Amino acid sequence: MKTQNKITQDKITPDDARNMLVEGNKRFVQNLKAQRNLQQQVAETSNGQYPFAVVLSCIDSRVPAELVFDQGIGDIFSARVAGNIVNEDILGSIEYACKVAGSKIVVVMGHSKCGAVTAACQDVELGNITALLSKIKPAVDTVRVNEEELSADSIEEVATKNVELSIERIRKESSILSEMEKEGQIEIVGAMYDVSNGRVELL
Ligand SMILES: [Zn+2]
Repeated sequence: MKTQNKITQDKITPDDARNMLVEGNKRFVQNLKAQRNLQQQVAETSNGQYPFAVVLSCIDSRVPAELVFDQGIGDIFSARVAGNIVNEDILGSIEYACKVAGSKIVVVMGHSKCGAVTAACQDVELGNITALLSKIKPAVDTVRVNEEELSADSIEEVATKNVELSIERIRKESSILSEMEKEGQIEIVGAMYDVSNGRVELL
């Protein structure tokens, strides 16, 4: 697998970028890792990086974006925060990845059995976690009709909704990214990762 450079990155369309991630996850699921010399990639990227994608995902130890998409050094930007929420700093990071560094796709990836989403559904309050969970609450509110405890299925529904709302926020709060999307320079897509089988499903 070749290391990305300016020429290869320029040729990649948003559609290509999506396919590269889909194919990478297929390899991951089939345990067919692409051949890569990571040390060689370190050397090849030492003077610059040309990643084709930026993935916003959860800090969950079971969901490392580079591994589940079978990518190497210099291939993807990886922004990780519990519950894959969006804030100003995350928006700035994604804008940097696309507008400055030339990435072609933004993937917001939630996952099953997410501790942050579950905690938000259970109204957990603890230190700085409270403020973090408040950013997941809008997704909880779309699923919870009264004060009843949410079932496991409903919690998964919240996780998917949380991805959709994160994408809405990206489009609404970043004129840079929404314009790039309108002009076809990037795609913004949602995804869910299943911790039981390693599969990524695009939404
Ligand atoms: Zn999580």
